[in-house]
Amino acid sequence: MDAGRFTEFWRWLAEAGLKVHEEMAVEAILARVLGTWRTCVVCHLLWERAFELASRWQYALAEDPEAQAQFVESETLCNRHAWFFKEVASPQTLGRLYRRLHAHVIERMRKLLKGDISRLTADPAQIFQDLIGERTCPLCGDEKAFLEVVLSELTRGLASGSIREAFVASGGCCLPHLASLLSRLPDADTVRYLLGAAVGQLGRSVKELGTYEDETESRKRRYGSAADAPTRALVYWAGQRGMGHAWREYETSFRAERNGGVRCGASCMDDRGGGAR
Ligand SMILES: [Zn+2]
Ligand SMILES: [Zn+2]
Repeated sequence: MDAGRFTEFWRWLAEAGLKVHEEMAVEAILARVLGTWRTCVVCHLLWERAFELASRWQYALAEDPEAQAQFVESETLCNRHAWFFKEVASPQTLGRLYRRLHAHVIERMRKLLKGDISRLTADPAQIFQDLIGERTCPLCGDEKAFLEVVLSELTRGLASGSIREAFVASGGCCLPHLASLLSRLPDADTVRYLLGAAVGQLGRSVKELGTYEDETESRKRRYGSAADAPTRALVYWAGQRGMGHAWREYETSFRAERNGGVRCGASCMDDRGGGAR
């Protein structure tokens, strides 16, 4: 784990997100964001990190010929991150990037057409690689490394007690990230504490969903803090849209071990462009 790699990110988050301009320890940043954000702190941090990185890339891919060449030769964005990047990059950058990527694929297809094409009826994963070349999604790689850092920092803060209060009062973690956190905690006392916090958070969610339903049915739209309760409940269950989580990992092990459990559709299992995750 290369925690130092993310030092700049924490500083950026404190300045841009929390408007704190002096040096701030990661634990203190975590306590602050727990008090500010209303959904899974892990998902939210992964989103902020991906956004910051994609914004820097948008600039590099627009301006830097070396970065462009490297991307066109050996990198790609998986389905999830390609759509994420679309939200960040300018249409001009996207157009330029995909023009070069498509030209690259045309070249490879022409070569395949000139040679032996019998292997194109073999394994689809191999065919996909033959078409686009060996590539990885750098956003997946970065996300995996950053997730390790976030989970370690949260584990440390929960075990030492420094972020416990903030965590209990917060919206907590989505269930996939809660499971990841629980699996890392060093002792039964901290596990009990975290699980107790989750019961409290889910209890508040159920209450807010009740308020939302009552107000909708009686057409008294006062919602207040319950206005986005269904969306927050969805995040609690499945994680934030498009962010890294552990469903895939859990599903794979469930399928292997129990031939059942949590199942996702075939399209979710069939994502071969996922790079490092
Ligand atoms: Zn999450
Ligand atoms: Zn990716």
